[in-house]
Amino acid sequence: MKLSSRISAIKPSPTLAITVKANALQAEGRNIIGFGAGEPDFDTPVHIKMAAIKAIEQGFTKYTAVDGIVELKDAIIRKLSEDNQLSYNRSQIVVSCGAKHSLYNLTQVLFEEGDEVIIPSPYWVSYLDMVILSGATPVIVKTTEQQGFKMLPQQLASAVTRRTKAIIINSPSNPAGVVYTSSELRTLSEVIIGKDMLIISDDVYEKIIYDGKVFTNIASLSEELKNMTVVVNGVSKAYSMTGWRIGYAAGPEEVIEAVTKLQSQNTSNPTSIAQKAAVEALNGPQESVAEMVEEFKIRRDSIVTMLNDIPGITCMLPQGAFYVFPDVSALFGRSYRGMIISNSSDFAAYLLDAANVAVVPGVDFGHDNHIRLSYATSLRNIEEGLERIKTAIMKLS
Ligand code: PMP
Repeated sequence: MKLSSRISAIKPSPTLAITVKANALQAEGRNIIGFGAGEPDFDTPVHIKMAAIKAIEQGFTKYTAVDGIVELKDAIIRKLSEDNQLSYNRSQIVVSCGAKHSLYNLTQVLFEEGDEVIIPSPYWVSYLDMVILSGATPVIVKTTEQQGFKMLPQQLASAVTRRTKAIIINSPSNPAGVVYTSSELRTLSEVIIGKDMLIISDDVYEKIIYDGKVFTNIASLSEELKNMTVVVNGVSKAYSMTGWRIGYAAGPEEVIEAVTKLQSQNTSNPTSIAQKAAVEALNGPQESVAEMVEEFKIRRDSIVTMLNDIPGITCMLPQGAFYVFPDVSALFGRSYRGMIISNSSDFAAYLLDAANVAVVPGVDFGHDNHIRLSYATSLRNIEEGLERIKTAIMKLS
């Protein structure tokens, strides 16, 4: 059967594919340690689960408004005002089936052939394919580890053209854990202000931030920037709610209205029960967030130390999210049983084969010298997994 050229132009999400492969090997009896998954390993806090159970018991199981229930919109408005100093009204908020859905809908309502969308790299894998699906052209701004994987204003300036429709900012970032300071965002904004372009600010890792670093959303820097920005966030990462599929977008009414129209023709509303749980996540006790971040910080410190102890691997200390993005290129050219490791995909395949460890090749994030490991797994798994990686590397000739 001939599928559309649209779907043929994109690839499946490699991070989800790695997890599927690791799970399949596990089911075959192999003891795999997975560093692929982009989700907290903690359970959803009990008070949030209880809110969903209550919603079921009360029969809150029917269609809701396409763009989300008022109660959830109001919780989001309060959150954005208190946490981010951003003020919105209900017609500027749309709730979707995860931040990924919000981002996908945005790319569909905003971009088309002829548009260019600036994506700093390393980037989250899905930005690229979503932009391609919309018909627009992704313009990758490659950052280096020496610059802390942060886009410099002069790099941004030279990427902007008459065709630039938007830029995607993701801080803290997946995969490198980069956190832009407010003054860095300000200098970037000087390039953006006055141009006919939009900013999509993907804030899903906002709460997972370390060492006293402070999260800033570029939209909060000025009214002008706010009017140019669509903020995307969700409950998946901060509240260990990846399976509940609740995300949202906040921004200019015209854009939100268009996303709502699109949603009305595809998913309709996000799950009613999950929306009630998300209200509790945002309005209820927040202690679980701090506890989770504290645990992530312990794991981050361990995994970074262990990686830097392995000859041939160097790893920057991430400032947010729950991933490390080490450089493994010093190992390229080494071989095992005649197979030469030439790139990040070869290296990831070797680790899965020889060490029973699943990692994601950096090439999927635009940097082939790196691999990504998620440390949203137990310290025990981290220690065992890193030991396995070290042993596997020693076997290379
Ligand atoms: N943005 C980034 C940068 C992510 O890493 C992810 C999840 N991996 C998402 C958005 C989507 O999150 P969700 O759809 O679960 O809200």
